[in-house]
Amino acid sequence: ATPTAVMVATGIGANHGVLVKGGDALERAQNVNYVVFDKTGTLTQGKAVVTTAKVFSGMDLGDFLTLVASAEASSEHPLAKAVLDYAFHFHFFGKLPSSKDGMQQRKEQILSQWLLEAEDFSVVPGKGVQCLINEKKVLIGNRALMSENGVSIPPEAESFLVDLEMNAKTGILVAYDSSFVGLMGIADPLKREAAVVVEGLKKMGIHPVMLTGDNWRTAQAVAKEVGIEDVRAEVMPAGKADVVRSLQKDGSIVAMVGDGINDSPALAAADVGMAIGGGTDIAIEAADYVLVRNNLEDVITAIDLSRKTFNRIR
Ligand code: ADP
Ligand code: MG
Repeated sequence: ATPTAVMVATGIGANHGVLVKGGDALERAQNVNYVVFDKTGTLTQGKAVVTTAKVFSGMDLGDFLTLVASAEASSEHPLAKAVLDYAFHFHFFGKLPSSKDGMQQRKEQILSQWLLEAEDFSVVPGKGVQCLINEKKVLIGNRALMSENGVSIPPEAESFLVDLEMNAKTGILVAYDSSFVGLMGIADPLKREAAVVVEGLKKMGIHPVMLTGDNWRTAQAVAKEVGIEDVRAEVMPAGKADVVRSLQKDGSIVAMVGDGINDSPALAAADVGMAIGGGTDIAIEAADYVLVRNNLEDVITAIDLSRKTFNRIR
């Protein structure tokens, strides 16, 4: 393609919200063999909502929610936001002011009065969070977080959790003072266009892959819904780029689509990194493409644009 053709294609892309950083990236996209999708916030809407909260110890449900929200208040993970919203509604439903503008501020004000003080908060990447509340250790996260801290999950809780996961929900486990207390189930629905885009890629001869830090059972359930057979689950944040590199080993051209801070090493490792929508600044920086509309159809638009520009389709 001539420099003019590249310039024209870049302009067409921009008009559709597909921003491409340079002619090389535009050229590479035509030959993509794999499109690797991050699950949370990329295939899914990234609007996690708590659907269940269940206590398996003697703790009162309200106290349980207070404990969880107090620990998650310092986390920026989408799961943490869902938990705080749920706890807020449990305690204060009906007390919201009518003005929508004031709502968020009012919520934070009310929450801050009611939350317990959490000390020594830290994120355990790919696993959850931990802190001290009333001088006792609080752990919130997945099975790996529990097992590496010697917390055992009672059988009835385990079967409840398996049930959630088979229904595409993520389970959040909670321990207080080294004992398992209860769990929450969180749903994050697929984007409306996700299944159609996956189908479209397959028709183009491209192999879709789902990549996630979430557990195997939830990942498989979501993958089935969206039509992806190739799933890589329980991948630690640092391992996401390794998955991309392993796909590249036989010379395959790999595109990675993601939104989070977690995903930027994988976006950078991919032949074609695509940061979706309101992705984080760091993800946008690591990517070759920015899909500003936050619509997965633009993955296909980007590949089509490259194919057309470089005359693979006449
Ligand atoms: P993803 O690939 O979905 O972005 P992450 O690496 O962010 O995955 O998280 C992996 C898993 O760790 C989550 O599915 C969840 O089980 C657990 N986790 C992470 N952060 C939190 C948190 N703030 N609260 C509870 N659980 C968490
Ligand atoms: Mg993430």
